[in-house]
Amino acid sequence: MMDLPKNEADLIDMAHEFARTQIAPNAPAWELDRRIGLETMKEAAKMGFTGIQVPVNHGGLGFSFSCKVRVLEIMAGEDFGFAMSLVNTHNVAVKLAREAPSEIVLAYVPDILAANKLGCTALTEPGAGSDVGAIETSATKVSNGWLLQGEKAWITNATLADVIIVYAQTEAGSGTSGIAAFVVDATRPGFIREPRFDLAGQHSIGTGGFRLNGYVARPNEMLAPPGRAFKTVVGEINGARTYVAAMCCGMVDKALNICAEYGRHRKTFGKPLNARQGWRWHLANAATDLTAARLLVRQAAAQIDEGVDAQLNAAQAKIFATRMAERHLPALIQAMGAEGLREQYPLGRHLIGSRVAGFVDGSTEMLLERVASFIR
Ligand SMILES: Cc1cc2nc3c(=O)[nH]c(=O)nc-3n(C[C@H](O)[C@H](O)[C@H](O)COP(=O)(O)OP(=O)(O)OC[C@H]3O[C@@H](n4cnc5c(N)ncnc54)[C@H](O)[C@@H]3O)c2cc1C
Repeated sequence: MMDLPKNEADLIDMAHEFARTQIAPNAPAWELDRRIGLETMKEAAKMGFTGIQVPVNHGGLGFSFSCKVRVLEIMAGEDFGFAMSLVNTHNVAVKLAREAPSEIVLAYVPDILAANKLGCTALTEPGAGSDVGAIETSATKVSNGWLLQGEKAWITNATLADVIIVYAQTEAGSGTSGIAAFVVDATRPGFIREPRFDLAGQHSIGTGGFRLNGYVARPNEMLAPPGRAFKTVVGEINGARTYVAAMCCGMVDKALNICAEYGRHRKTFGKPLNARQGWRWHLANAATDLTAARLLVRQAAAQIDEGVDAQLNAAQAKIFATRMAERHLPALIQAMGAEGLREQYPLGRHLIGSRVAGFVDGSTEMLLERVASFIR
């Protein structure tokens, strides 16, 4: 697998330090308070993490996708939700920088990079998740732009987001071909935020929803017209699948390290836990599957950097890594005994993180369908 250039390797080193000193100590409080770690996001912004892939001429670092994936893996090791929140706002900056007219870029990208504004991307609705073509939020041409009406749900960062990329249907009944993408500003009339979603955990994701009621998007706020919008989503989602897979690797890696350290010191029946073959096998199984998952992730990430179609490998990486986390996180908690449940460790939060990974950016079942489509 390709080695990253020195400046990207340096950022990865910084991510390790940032995760240890800024995410780990704060993440339990985000969960307790049920909120996004915004103050830590601002610290992340100062170090460039909100603009890893944003082109340099727009104020970002202009680094590779593989670098972003490695950073997210490390951050997710301490808090999956923080990494999700960060990458979702980051991706809005990248998309605007690449696709929006200059006045829109100026209006939002510098603020997103500084974490003064938070971004999110809204496809899912109360009545449509996997079946994207069934979304009902409508976009109707009016004299001063596009009238947006509808409701979005299950959106990362929606509890605080200032700028939202909204996908809406321009022609009822036309499925994905009628979907267009718009830039929506949460401060404008017609944007109504819903209360945060109270979930089993992972509240640092900032999951929530909003309604659009009489919201008018100006003509230059149509980011992608019908026909192109969904094609762009299909391209971008391979990246999302790859980094979610990496985040699963990050959670298992962290759990493995915590467990290994615990097993060196905890004694039962006169011997440390790691002196027991049956106990060590829990860790060995996790380490083996983690290596396999990482190889799949690295392969998909390299394809994305090379501009090769990563549909198959990204889907396989996410299926495998999600299942790997779902299998090994409970096993590693078991290996820690009751201690593994303490809030000071991220293991309990990671359990819910692995469940979230099974839904976002294509559920496991939808990804199996994608893989099946390659089998002839
Ligand atoms: C924490 C969190 C954050 C999220 N963030 C975002 C975001 O930022 N933006 C956004 O747009 N969305 C987001 N989502 C939504 C996510 O993309 C959806 O949850 C996902 O698309 C699945 O949709 P659904 O939950 O409505 O499940 P459904 O589509 O209702 O499916 C229910 C179950 O049935 C399975 N299923 C569905 N159809 C079939 C079929 N044909 N054959 C076999 N099985 C099937 C699914 O895999 C799933 O297991 C988020 C979700 C979560 C949990």
